[in-house]
Formats: sequence, structure tokens, C-alpha cells
Amino acid sequence: MAYTHKKSMDMFKRAAKVIPSGIYGHFTPALMMPGHTPYFISKAKGPRFWDVDGNEYIDYMCAYGPMILGYANRKVDEAFAKQAKLGTATMPPTALMVELAEKMVEINDCADWALFAKNGGDTTSWAIYIARGYRKRNKIVLATGGYHGTQPWSGSNHTGVTPNDTADIILVPWGDLAAFQKAVENNPDQIAGVMMTPYNHPTFAPSVLPPDGYWAGMRRVCDDNDIVLIIDDVRAGWRLDIKGSAHSFGFRPDLACYCKAIANGYPISAIVGAEKLKLTASKVFHTGSYWGNSPEMAAALACIEEMQNIDAAGICHERGKQLREGLLELATAHGLQFDVSGPLPIPFIRFTNETNFKRSQLFVKECILNGVYFAWHHNMFLSAAHTKKDIEQTLDVADKAFKVVKKQFGS
Ligand code: PMP
Repeated sequence: MAYTHKKSMDMFKRAAKVIPSGIYGHFTPALMMPGHTPYFISKAKGPRFWDVDGNEYIDYMCAYGPMILGYANRKVDEAFAKQAKLGTATMPPTALMVELAEKMVEINDCADWALFAKNGGDTTSWAIYIARGYRKRNKIVLATGGYHGTQPWSGSNHTGVTPNDTADIILVPWGDLAAFQKAVENNPDQIAGVMMTPYNHPTFAPSVLPPDGYWAGMRRVCDDNDIVLIIDDVRAGWRLDIKGSAHSFGFRPDLACYCKAIANGYPISAIVGAEKLKLTASKVFHTGSYWGNSPEMAAALACIEEMQNIDAAGICHERGKQLREGLLELATAHGLQFDVSGPLPIPFIRFTNETNFKRSQLFVKECILNGVYFAWHHNMFLSAAHTKKDIEQTLDVADKAFKVVKKQFGS
């Protein structure tokens, strides 16, 4: 029987009285399938969560990325709990900070040092300050429509942002080397850095992998013009390759930003960089009340060790392949025009014969109401906790959902 969400709705009404918009930011149900979506959850374990109405879901959002080993992973949780007993926000920090920095340097071939913060946006801002400080130039190139957090410089056009906030930002289309080259020519000796995601993962649009030679070309133009090449690997980091997504696409950035999956859900982010930027990084005063917390660092060390031990990225690829092939096969069998884009562990689904997302929304709604938590507007995430059986169960649900789409739309 399809799920209902009465308790979620009741809780949302309570929330709306005391929390602006009820649930804010990217957790808002407005982005999912309002009215058919669980608004509040009660618990999560492995690749599944349960909502406050008691409905169970196989989760393909993985909290928008952090969950890579499965919710409530024993090894990571034990490492966190053990360290929490020894103190949380201490001053000075613990030796775990050094251990974690050493680990980051060991696994990232572009890294000679590491710094830690809490959120992805902390590190993307930090990267920009470092690039500007190093080059003593102001301008930063970003990709049009790219997302690096809600900081005003990033092009986030929310209330309160002024034109001055983005005065030193130059936008070029992602994947367009000629456009980047032109921006560099038009702004001689003014560009400090360029920040992009390793592949293009916009919201509300298919994901796009780097065109041939793109990153080699970007690296060359940056080197020729003394521009710091910054990779925002906040979303994709660790799922493509334990050595970082840049490694999987065969290039070395000067700075790389990580967050999401670094500690399987515990709040910590990291920026790693090349030796040449270390002195400047030491001069940028960027900090936060909880940035030195040791339990998150213990969790990150345990998570990285486990990702290495089980080859989490490899499992995410395998499960992503099973899911992608299964969905494409089913859609074809139903006579539907359906596509899955992006790397195997981070799929974006859509119906190719529409731009209004009506089929995608119906498909996702049917999946959610039958226990598979998919998204239509955003890429999804595989984890190392998804089993072959979970994917099979997902495909059974998807089969029925495709049938509903076929019935309603015909093609
Ligand atoms: N960069 C990218 C590519 C992201 O996907 C995100 C978060 N979705 C961020 C930066 C910002 O991270 P946070 O929300 O942790 O500040």
C-alpha cells in the first residue's frame, strides 16, 4: 500500500509556526515532491531511513552526499563516541588534527597540507581567500550556474546579496576551455583563481562529464597565467576516487575542497593544497568555533580507513552501474525516453522528451510512495551500504513507477 505522511504534515505545521519556511535551505520539501514526501524522519540505518509515520525508504539522496558508508556505521560512530568522551571542542586541538592532515596528504596526490572546517562553503571561501592572497589579484572565475555554497561571492542570489558581492567574479560556461581562455585574455594579470566542480552537476539539469582535454587545457592555461586552479569536490569527493575526483579525471588542482562524505555524516570539511600555497594559507585568518573539534576528526579518520578498506568508491560504482543499467532497461521496455547522466555513483535521472519535469516528478512521486527515495531536481547518490538486493528492490519499484508514467503520458 502506498505511503501516507500525516505525522510529517502535522509536524510541518508546527514547524512553520516557529521556523521560517518550516524546513529551510536545501532540506526543504519544496524541492522534493511536496505532499508525497516524508518531511521528518525518525531514524536511519545502512542505506535506509524511516519517517515519522513509520514508512521505510531505500535512500538515494544520502543526505545530499555525506552518507557514504551507510547511516549509523558502527566503526565511524564508535570512533566518534570514543573521542567525544575525551572532550569535544577543546582548546588547544588534539593530535588527531595532525593525524588527519597527514592522512589527507597521504591519499591526495595534489595535497601537501590540509586545513579543516565544518561545511563545504567554509572551504570554498577559504580557497578563494588563499588564491587572492597568493596571487595578489582580486578576480575569480566560476562556472555559470555552479554551486559552491550560499556565500554572497558564489553567485547565490538570495535576499541580502548585493551586486558588490560578486563584482570580482567572472562567469564562464563549465566545460568551455575557449571561454575560459578568453576571460583570461580579457582580464590580464587580474585573475587570482578559477573554481569549478570536477564535472558539471547543476541542479534541474543533467550532469556533464569533462570533455576530452578539458582539464589538461585548464591546467595549462592556469599555469601559463599564474592562476590558482581550485576544485570544489565538496559533492563528488570520495565517491569517484579515494584520491579525489581530480585524480579520477587525470589532473592536479592547486587547491581541493572536501566536505560531505569525509566523515560519513559528522560535520567536518577540509581544504588541501599544494606546497606553493602553504605560506599564504597560514596567513589567511579564517576560523570557526567548532573547527578544531576532535570527535569529528576521529570520525573522519575512521571513515577514510573504512573507505580504503572496502573500496567504497568501487562499490558505489558497481551499485551505480546496476541501478543505471536496470533503470535504462526498464524505461526502454516501457517505451519511455529516459536518461541517467553523471558518474555511476552520482546519477541524475530525467525523461529526455520533456523540459518541464512532469514525468520525472510523477516517476519520483511513485517511487517515494513505494519506499524508494529518489529525487527529480538534483543528482542522487549511491553509497557503499546499498546492496545488490537493495538495487533489485529499487528496480521493482521503478518498474511500477514507469508503468504509471507510461499510462499517464503515453511516451
Ligand atoms: N560545493 C558544492 C559542489 C556543493 O554541492 C555544496 C553543497 N551542496 C557546497 C559547495 C556547499 O557545502 P555546504 O552546504 O556544506 O556549505
